[in-house]
Amino acid sequence: MTAASADGVTPRGTSRADAARDHLWMHFARHSGLYEGQQVPVITRGEGVRVWDDAGRRYLDALAGLFVVQVGHGRRELAEAAARQAEQLAYFPLWSYAHPPAIDLAERLAAYAPGDLNRVFFTTGGGEAVETAWKLAKQYWRLVGRPTKHKVISRAVAYHGTPHGALTITGIPAAKEPFEPLVPSGITVPNTNQYRAPVHVRDDGKAFGLWAADRIEEAILFEGPDTVAAVFLEPVQNSGGCFPPPPGYFDRVRAICDEYDVLLVSDEVICAFGRIGSMFACDDFGYVPDMITCAKGMTSGYSPIGAMIASDRLFEPFAKGTTTFPHGFTFGGHPVSAAVAMANLDILEREGLNDHVKATAPAFRSTLEKLLDLPIVGDVRGAGYFYGIELVKDKNTRETFDAEESERLLRGFLSRALFEAGLYCRADDRGDPVVQLAPPLICEQAEFDEMEQILRSVLTEAWSKL
Ligand code: PLP
Repeated sequence: MTAASADGVTPRGTSRADAARDHLWMHFARHSGLYEGQQVPVITRGEGVRVWDDAGRRYLDALAGLFVVQVGHGRRELAEAAARQAEQLAYFPLWSYAHPPAIDLAERLAAYAPGDLNRVFFTTGGGEAVETAWKLAKQYWRLVGRPTKHKVISRAVAYHGTPHGALTITGIPAAKEPFEPLVPSGITVPNTNQYRAPVHVRDDGKAFGLWAADRIEEAILFEGPDTVAAVFLEPVQNSGGCFPPPPGYFDRVRAICDEYDVLLVSDEVICAFGRIGSMFACDDFGYVPDMITCAKGMTSGYSPIGAMIASDRLFEPFAKGTTTFPHGFTFGGHPVSAAVAMANLDILEREGLNDHVKATAPAFRSTLEKLLDLPIVGDVRGAGYFYGIELVKDKNTRETFDAEESERLLRGFLSRALFEAGLYCRADDRGDPVVQLAPPLICEQAEFDEMEQILRSVLTEAWSKL
């Protein structure tokens, strides 16, 4: 028995597997398998780019947990920053009071953010940051005398979180349907999936970028510019499998937003803090939004926090008279999380991880592109340390899998087989079936090769099973 498995008992003396089955409600998870003898993987330890399960098996964490662990696992420095802050001041709210970690972090994020995005509203995670951004947009337009501007535009298949507002902004019908009716006023436009773009622009990135951006203008005009408050876009869209913006896309979107007085929200819950190579990914693609939402990598997951960063213009009406933003969270900007974020950002800077991503991303891409010789791999796309590999039934026609095949392939085989082969990543079919990779930013060529080799072997087997 390994030391890890000796640990596999709860303080009440139950086997962890049984206690997980009987008491833990996992997020976005099917539980039925646990009643048919399957066991949930229990991860007990992390070090660098690796995690270990309760049987002592080792995995390459090619998803940084959930697009979170930028600096890698097991950083004592971050644990110590949390302990120091918990001892000094474990908790105080930001409701009309402040504490040093939140002040220091707000100043630091404002310095990283482009343009005059100088005002930071802390949350506990990404969905709350998105929710905050929509609420701010609505109240801002009221305060400046344009109360009918309340609708939001976002893209098909995009994921923006689970609170009701963020879910309205989310473009995944299956995630929304059980909770309808949601907040009214969400409008969906096409995303920037070039692989699935209309045929007339499929082979011309620039034309596709203009086409996709113009769909936003079309939606604004259709709804009426006086009713539209904001557009929510990720720099690289996660859900659907890592869609980077085509050339010219964000230039055109920014121009459209300026023309019709619509706020541009850059939802960087995944893309910030080096995932693409800069602290904020709008810098990677050369646009200045009106708000940024961020979370995940801010602390590399060592403690939860999120933020909505707004421009001076948006804060201006809140600086006067009796006006407040009647919105907040008990744990928003938690002192321990803010202190951990400061220490995490110190590591990103000291170790030059953003530059490391910029320097090694081309090698990551070309390593993954080797997989294009497999019949099941239709597309490899992404940016920085954030890639999606789209799986297809027929490369020539780009035919995808039907629901039953996708179920059999992704849930029935791939997720488990990749994990058993030592690769933790994500097989996802919220759009067309993809495998997603977003490893810690400390990964090197050896890990890129390991990902490619495991994927090659498991995808080859998957093809033979079809
Ligand atoms: N926005 C984007 C782009 C995300 O990817 C996510 C989560 O993955 C969210 C919002 C929601 O963040 P959270 O799960 O922290 O609420």
